[in-house]
Amino acid sequence: MEGKARQLSLERARELKSRITDYLRVQDDIETGFKLANEIEIQKQKILAVLGGTEEDWEDWHWQMENRITDAETLAKIIDVDEDECDVISDIGETYRWAISPYYAALMSISSRQCPIRWLAVPSAFEYSEEGCLDPMSEKETSPASAITRRYPDRLIIKVTNQCAMYCRHCQRRRQIGEIDNHVLGPHLKEAIEYVRSNPEIRDVLITGGDAFMLEDDAIEWILKELSSIEHVEMIRFGSRTLVTLPQRITPELCEILGKYHPVYVNTHFNHPKEITPEVAAACERLSRAGVPLGNQAVLLNGINSSVHVMKKLNHELLKIRVRPYYLFHAKVVKGTLHFHPKVETGLHIMEQLRGFTSGMAIPTYIVNAPGGLGKTPILPNYLIGWGEDYVMIRTWEGNVVKYPNFKGDMGEDIEYWDDSDE
Ligand SMILES: *Cc1c(COP(=O)(O)O)cnc(C)c1O
Repeated sequence: MEGKARQLSLERARELKSRITDYLRVQDDIETGFKLANEIEIQKQKILAVLGGTEEDWEDWHWQMENRITDAETLAKIIDVDEDECDVISDIGETYRWAISPYYAALMSISSRQCPIRWLAVPSAFEYSEEGCLDPMSEKETSPASAITRRYPDRLIIKVTNQCAMYCRHCQRRRQIGEIDNHVLGPHLKEAIEYVRSNPEIRDVLITGGDAFMLEDDAIEWILKELSSIEHVEMIRFGSRTLVTLPQRITPELCEILGKYHPVYVNTHFNHPKEITPEVAAACERLSRAGVPLGNQAVLLNGINSSVHVMKKLNHELLKIRVRPYYLFHAKVVKGTLHFHPKVETGLHIMEQLRGFTSGMAIPTYIVNAPGGLGKTPILPNYLIGWGEDYVMIRTWEGNVVKYPNFKGDMGEDIEYWDDSDE
């Protein structure tokens, strides 16, 4: 009898193995920051020479910020940019700001126009498009106090700066990324914190921007201290892309500050496995050791990560550095970014090909943001395909359709328990 069960198990194992052969064939061809470490090091040396910096400078996030690449001439010394591209880059820069940290610039391929990092960081002629709008989320109309966006009953975001280490070409808040970097001024921050203090239902506060870690350590500590003195604030989250674009920002000092005000969570924004380098892994390690759980909020972008294999690889690489994939956002209809826009079918297909095929831990929730600030709306392939009086019909990840009993157990008359599911 045991022999029979073992034989069935072995057959099933063979079948399961066949479910990932396509991924196994291509996974080694997908570029990651670890695989490209040598090329990146060569580019780093070139950039240091162009900018006149030292190894020590490179590790200093202030140096990285002061030496961001913001003009086409300097960019052309680092990667191949022809004259037409130079003109476009300078011209687009007049409308939509761009800036690339030296660290992130070193991840770009020198010659390939297909390089995902180049797409994410360097302006292109597609940004001339007039389609889309600048504030699809109506953030202006969901701000009950300065710097706050409130869209949900128990949580809100405070935008503390419009500054970022790198200005993503797909940015949803490009309208606020003006000429000059601005941190929100003290009085506005105080107003935001007073709003939280006087609304006891707010239990979760997200500090974002821009990029929350563009603030200096003492400003971050001040905010943490204020918020954690409010009894009803149960948790604080930071939104920062510095883990990806400026890992030097994750200093031991910053980690120590964050560690003093737990529970503090950090969510970041990786879009491609090429962004996961040894430097990034070390920065994530510092945060994890400080007790900060890390999450990723990717954006589904045409030609960058709109593939099952790339998305799977991204999420695997993230779990290796202890970053849990949290959301996969469908891109918003923001003017000048529509070339990045995928179809919802693409997102659904990716979700369908993740569930079951890889660790549940590697599967984010796919979200379409309802226009007008009406909130994050999850989109899922359908697994519940039919209903009867006392059963449901479900579809498994492999496409098996199964009948599943649907009934409610009886705990007896005299037991009182919370259950509002029948209301
Ligand atoms: C995304 C967002 C949140 C947080 O949403 P979660 O689903 O809890 O991560 C809160 N407030 C605003 C305005 C947001 O856009």
